[in-house]
Amino acid sequence: LNYRDIADNAVFKSHNAFNRKASLPIGAIQAIDKLYSHQKQLTLTLNSKRNERSLLGDRIREVAKDAEARNTALKAAKALKDQITDLEAKLEEIDDELFRLAIAVPNDTHPEVPIGPESVATVLSHHGPEPIPASPSRDHVDIARALNLVDFQAGATVTGTSWYYLINEGALLEIALVNYALSIASKYGFTPVTVPDVIRADIAHRCGFHPRDQEADQMYRIANIGSSDAPELVLAGTAEIPLAGMFANKIYNDHDLPRRVVGLGRAFRAEAGARGADTRGLYRVHQFTKLELFAVTAEEKSDEIMEEFRKIQVEIFEGLGFPFRVLDMPTEELGASAYRKYDMEAWMPGRGSWGEISSTSNCTDYQSRRMHIRYRKQVDDPKQPTQIPFAHTLNGTAAAVPRLIVALLENGVRFDEGNVAGLDLPKILRPFWVGGSGRDIIRWV
Ligand code: AMP
Repeated sequence: LNYRDIADNAVFKSHNAFNRKASLPIGAIQAIDKLYSHQKQLTLTLNSKRNERSLLGDRIREVAKDAEARNTALKAAKALKDQITDLEAKLEEIDDELFRLAIAVPNDTHPEVPIGPESVATVLSHHGPEPIPASPSRDHVDIARALNLVDFQAGATVTGTSWYYLINEGALLEIALVNYALSIASKYGFTPVTVPDVIRADIAHRCGFHPRDQEADQMYRIANIGSSDAPELVLAGTAEIPLAGMFANKIYNDHDLPRRVVGLGRAFRAEAGARGADTRGLYRVHQFTKLELFAVTAEEKSDEIMEEFRKIQVEIFEGLGFPFRVLDMPTEELGASAYRKYDMEAWMPGRGSWGEISSTSNCTDYQSRRMHIRYRKQVDDPKQPTQIPFAHTLNGTAAAVPRLIVALLENGVRFDEGNVAGLDLPKILRPFWVGGSGRDIIRWV
């Protein structure tokens, strides 16, 4: 972690944390500033004591034959050793405290990001057809029930509320959406990956997700199985975490970057405190299939890659034929890790609102500092030392299945004399449609 950057820019960092409503202990930045000076001072003292001890070692050898001088030197060496042990313990304490405080400091913020809550997001662009008028008859829950695409009751029986089964064309739609989005990501050179959904809490923490943060505890923890010193495990809230973890502790050559991967995983969200319309049906559920774009880049490339992600996502969602818009998200929506975040929202006429379907973040070096992801910079002058800076990481949703199903049902439902009769789906999904339910409710348009 970059303690020096925090200490040198303490006022700026405090201001930034305030704008982002970061959950940071009061006075944390000032404490880091103080502890960092203390750490520097102690390190200097410790080094000089170590130096002294090594000189004393020489002296002891020199005066080996002079018992008195040897005794004096040995006494001094013993006193020095105690001082060094003491200093080392103090330094370790300070290191731990610095790490604990600094890991909670949020990333810096892109200068164009609007300051404030969700309501001040900037709309960057609109895509797809004109939104159709809002209508309660287009509610995705009613449509899904009428067409027998989702079994909410079985989900409630087997697990609980906000758990569900996709059935019939509902299940086929999930598979088709994943493969469709994957085909586009592959076209842009993303390597396909399937990820472990159970991850170490420490990896989640280093990614900017805080499993122990009481207020924002959105992670399912797994009871410790096996030996008591086994690492604490959680269910991944997003494939971003195992994808970032894939690159941990690696040093790349700059010509091998960017690395682009697209990961398929199940996302698990406790959604503690979620209430109201959002928890109806498929909009806010506890488990969903998600295809995630992830990239590791050189520092000067991350803004460009963020635009590339945006272009790919626009292509995926334009293909699906519903209206959507792109937002530049404000400071309070950035979480701990994002330097900048673009959300995309689809028009959901049954809900009568725009609903978030994807999110893209440029995390700059926030995750790579915590995960130790670095790269070797090519230097033209062989006399110059090689630089090994931290890489930048980015993540973005290629397909969060349930929200896409909500948008497709609410925009594509077909009525016959006021009754739900079927579903119009974009032809682009047809090649990814495998198997069938034997019913004839889908019309490819
Ligand atoms: P996030 O990682 O929170 O930015 O979420 C990525 C995407 O997953 C969002 O843009 C939503 O489309 C979707 N999503 C997030 N939370 C849920 C949830 N609880 N249920 C269904 N979809 C979700």
